[in-house]
Amino acid sequence: MKLSREYDVIVIGGGPAGCATALALKQQGIPKILLVESGRYETIRIGESIPPDTRILLNDLGILADFLEENHETCFGSCSSWGSDALAYNDFLRNPYGNGWHLDRRRFNAFLARKAGERGVEVLCGTKVSRCDRIHPRGFQLQLAGEDGQMRAIAASFLVDATGMRACFAKSLGARKLFLDRLICAIAFFELPPSVAFSKLTLLEAVEYGWWYAAKLPNNRLATVVASEPPIIKEAGLHRRENWLACLKETQHISKELADCSAIENLSLSSASPARTGELMFCTAPSFRLDRAAGIDWLAVGDAASAFDPISSQGIYKALWDGLKAAKAIAADWQGDKRGLQEYEALITSRFDRYLAQRNYFYQMEQRWPTSPFWQHRRERIALRESNVSVSMPRIS
Ligand SMILES: Cc1cc2nc3c(=O)[nH]c(=O)nc-3n(C[C@H](O)[C@H](O)[C@H](O)COP(=O)(O)OP(=O)(O)OC[C@H]3O[C@@H](n4cnc5c(N)ncnc54)[C@H](O)[C@@H]3O)c2cc1C
Repeated sequence: MKLSREYDVIVIGGGPAGCATALALKQQGIPKILLVESGRYETIRIGESIPPDTRILLNDLGILADFLEENHETCFGSCSSWGSDALAYNDFLRNPYGNGWHLDRRRFNAFLARKAGERGVEVLCGTKVSRCDRIHPRGFQLQLAGEDGQMRAIAASFLVDATGMRACFAKSLGARKLFLDRLICAIAFFELPPSVAFSKLTLLEAVEYGWWYAAKLPNNRLATVVASEPPIIKEAGLHRRENWLACLKETQHISKELADCSAIENLSLSSASPARTGELMFCTAPSFRLDRAAGIDWLAVGDAASAFDPISSQGIYKALWDGLKAAKAIAADWQGDKRGLQEYEALITSRFDRYLAQRNYFYQMEQRWPTSPFWQHRRERIALRESNVSVSMPRIS
């Protein structure tokens, strides 16, 4: 693809937040937009549940009808053992927007990028933005590194950091991350037997050392995740597949659902499958927000601006919402109205405060293990803090 040197806006990162921002910028009439994504939508992506009202955002982005044709897995709500051994149901039956979905994330992300391309956004995959420098009087020069090792420089009047929780460029422009929490998740995907009827609810189960969830994905795949603190994961040996599996089998409800459909036997076997199912993967799941989500000629969206605990299942909704709000702020900035960016920042901060209140309430509900370090830490009222402590990922064995 031949690239023009000057763009009105360059969006770095083609996840849900970056794609939604690019789509919404087109709706705002911004002509020259480049979306740069380092991957090619070929690898597994984590995070799958979206609530029913996501359809409002997809509609606002003008892609709801096409999304519905993608046939992701219907989700009718959640079912959890949280604060009690008994299961409690939070179904979407009375939700005015109907059902939610369990997404094939790789396919969903690729769909969003495709839609952006169809609407006139230049989409450049397999290319990493390796550096950004301010140019005077306005804008940025970016270094692009292609898969072939070729470096190119391009310029943009405005920059959107949609690089996910690394927030590389917002940080290089002086923003700092204010952390609340630093969970880590150990995840495996499994193939379910073809004829099996697995629950269309997200299953959530608190345990002494953290919490588990399981969600059925399109194509008879199952995402199974345990979340805890890095030292607890290590101490419990959850970074080893056999221990992870043993702990999964010890869960009261999720293991039963798996056993009912004979899936648990498959779990033990499927690591040899060519589809890379059953492999244990790790990802960090911090809660943080930037101290500033926007500045002169830039802003951050999605996980780059603020990241929530995966228990909230709000990451994708938040990413799409940010995209719509960010585009309005950039369009206002374009017209010379600086209040747009200030209002955007205020929205990110107030939403994070609401998330904090909900998150704290939710973790307070679990009182079964008063001496468990995991639950003690979750119930503490911690102030947001800057921290240089990085979460080390356990070695898989
Ligand atoms: C275990 C777990 C479970 C979760 N479950 C859910 C769930 O059920 N529901 C939900 O809504 N959310 C969930 N989330 C959160 C959700 O996945 C994220 O909030 C969401 O992906 C954020 O979207 P994003 O576009 O901001 O960032 P990302 O999806 O991280 O996208 C960032 C993109 O930027 C690209 N990129 C990064 N750096 C560069 C660069 N230098 N140059 C070019 N491209 C770059 C990356 O390749 C990536 O594609 C979960 C998260 C975790 C960890």
